[in-house]
Amino acid sequence: MMPNRLEPELDIYQYPEHLRACLAPLPKGPGVYVFHGQSESLPLYIGKSVNIRSRVMAHFRAQDEAKMLRQTRRISFIETAGELGALLLEAQLIKQQQPLFNKRLRRSKQLCALRLQADAVTIAHAKEIDFAVTPHLYGLFANRHAALEKLRAIADEHRLCYGKLGIDKLPAGRACFRYSLRKCAGACCGVESAQEHALRLSAALEQLRITCWPFAGRVALEEQGETLRQYHVIHNWFYLGSVGNLAQAERLQSAASHFDSDGYKILCKPLIAGDYPIIELP
Ligand SMILES: [Zn+2]
Repeated sequence: MMPNRLEPELDIYQYPEHLRACLAPLPKGPGVYVFHGQSESLPLYIGKSVNIRSRVMAHFRAQDEAKMLRQTRRISFIETAGELGALLLEAQLIKQQQPLFNKRLRRSKQLCALRLQADAVTIAHAKEIDFAVTPHLYGLFANRHAALEKLRAIADEHRLCYGKLGIDKLPAGRACFRYSLRKCAGACCGVESAQEHALRLSAALEQLRITCWPFAGRVALEEQGETLRQYHVIHNWFYLGSVGNLAQAERLQSAASHFDSDGYKILCKPLIAGDYPIIELP
């Protein structure tokens, strides 16, 4: 067979000589870098690192990124004070610009959580209630199916009743099927009390609890790097941007129209742990 000469051999790796000159200006500190192709408005790839230069050099050696490297025309970067700033900025830019080669999932429109109210579990959707301020939510889940799957797994592990949890219909006046298999401890037929069942349920959910935004309004997280100090401005787990001094934080006002699951995942631990000085903003 004749080789098809029209088909370019896109995946053959070659060191990207055409980008060698791009390396020199890259800093060895933390921040975000952007691979640009021909389009000025649509970047190819956005990444973050505590060492921008060495991370970009690693891309140059990555054989499976040959296609992206071939399309790259230039590389830009934004320095941050540290790793936290880099994480926040990367997530924000990827959401805003949706680069071609970032395989990261886009914001899930079906984001949901398990909600516990008066010992009953329901599924709550982020598009309907504000996860940042609603108590007794557990998650997060990409969709309803994933939430139900987790609830089943918790029920199996802790011998909770599918009927009581509303996963299955309970046969009237009888124990559920899983009780006969000893997979339910018997909340459905009085072997254990509703209270015992509720206690084990809430204890099992606890590790998934979504932390409500613990401040009245916006806060600034101070991150001090070797050469740079930044204040990351956050409201309801939503990252509004970073500034060099608190006076500039004034212009970053709340614009969150939805629960920011990226912001929540990045910020919850360091914020609760007190890893960074926090300044409450007026
Ligand atoms: Zn049962």
